[in-house]
Amino acid sequence: MKDGMRKVSIFGATGSIGQNTLDLIARAPGSYDVVALTGGRNVVQLARDAVAVQASLAVTAFDDALPVLRELLAGTGVEVAGGEAALLEAADRPVDWVMSAIVGAAGLAPGFRALVQGRTLALANKESLVAAGPLLLSQAVRHGATILPVDSEHSAVFQALVGEDIAAVERIIITASGGGLRDWPLQALARATVQDAGAHPNWDMGQRITIDSASMFNKAMELIETKEFFGVRPAQIQTIIHPQSIVHALVGFRDGALMAHLGPPDMRHAIGYALHYPERRVLPVARLDLAALATLEFRAPCDTRYPALRLARAVMQTGGGAGAVFNAAKEVALDGFLAGRIGFMDMSGVVEDTLDAIAQDICLHDVIETLETVLQTDHLARIRAREQVAARPTHR
Ligand code: NAD
Ligand code: MG
Repeated sequence: MKDGMRKVSIFGATGSIGQNTLDLIARAPGSYDVVALTGGRNVVQLARDAVAVQASLAVTAFDDALPVLRELLAGTGVEVAGGEAALLEAADRPVDWVMSAIVGAAGLAPGFRALVQGRTLALANKESLVAAGPLLLSQAVRHGATILPVDSEHSAVFQALVGEDIAAVERIIITASGGGLRDWPLQALARATVQDAGAHPNWDMGQRITIDSASMFNKAMELIETKEFFGVRPAQIQTIIHPQSIVHALVGFRDGALMAHLGPPDMRHAIGYALHYPERRVLPVARLDLAALATLEFRAPCDTRYPALRLARAVMQTGGGAGAVFNAAKEVALDGFLAGRIGFMDMSGVVEDTLDAIAQDICLHDVIETLETVLQTDHLARIRAREQVAARPTHR
């Protein structure tokens, strides 16, 4: 019955991207055979989805969550597993397409494993490209794997480049909504709470990426992601604030043409493009009514408000291990903010000071050639970043 169906696995199936991916698969009956689903502690959701799509395997990333998952799936025929090694084993299962939608650096190793197996990797986990872009791309070439962008801006650029010569590209502009605190006075930002920063004006996303949108760490990561994915120079990449989140990215060519990608803020467009690629299928996203929209606004981002953008430029300049440090330090800083330990504006300070501190330990310029080196750099950066968080006065 499953003959002729494309085999797919979803890493991070219980999250925002994972759920949207499952939604699209459910709307394409007979097209996709789901092999492995992975999640974290939300094993009830994981078990429910595994049964609904008749997955072969359900994996929780956490050993201690395995007994509950096992109980929930007893007698269903779905195989269960737990822990980091089980995630890697799940990435070894033969499939045609893998969605990489685990949040954070935890998504790096499973995605890497899928690439080494020559799979098509739909990459939502931007942390992978920030921490290990050159390594991932070289491994993809070596093993005949394909990486498809899922981040909306990068999917937009990818689509604008179909049939084009990358050498004819002059610039790439990715848009930013500016996040939940966009219109706050600069002086008030230091007092922003998790709740303030966790409300996004346009996109419905996981909590971490929503706060990263407010601080623009998300856009900073995306600048690096653009450089790595499309192989353009940092000077060719720009970001612009666009409060409506309708234009996702623009590609400027040497003849002066500027190709924009427009769509409603619904991740199912970018996910669906990567899922059905190279086909363009009907997708359940709202069609834009330009007359009703009437106005699209754009403005340059302010560096004082968004220090993350300046840090991303420095990271791109340094290359080597700087991306892995940037990503790890950002994750630790975000944990500190979520825990109420540091303030909203302290996050960029922690990342900047971690980059400075770690330059005493390792030579950041050195090219990273193995996944182990990336993971070691990530590990060391977390230690240094935690020291930076601890060194700051307790936030009130
Ligand atoms: P989310 O928090 O909603 O979901 C994350 C998923 O990862 C969940 O399935 C969770 O169980 C799993 N997970 C969490 N910690 C884990 C760990 N240590 N090991 C293994 N699995 C773990 O996140 P999301 O918003 O879906 O984002 C997923 C990825 O996609 C992120 O890299 C994010 O930057 C990227 N992305 C998301 C959006 C969006 O609209 N949500 C847009 C662009 C890019
Ligand atoms: Mg994005």
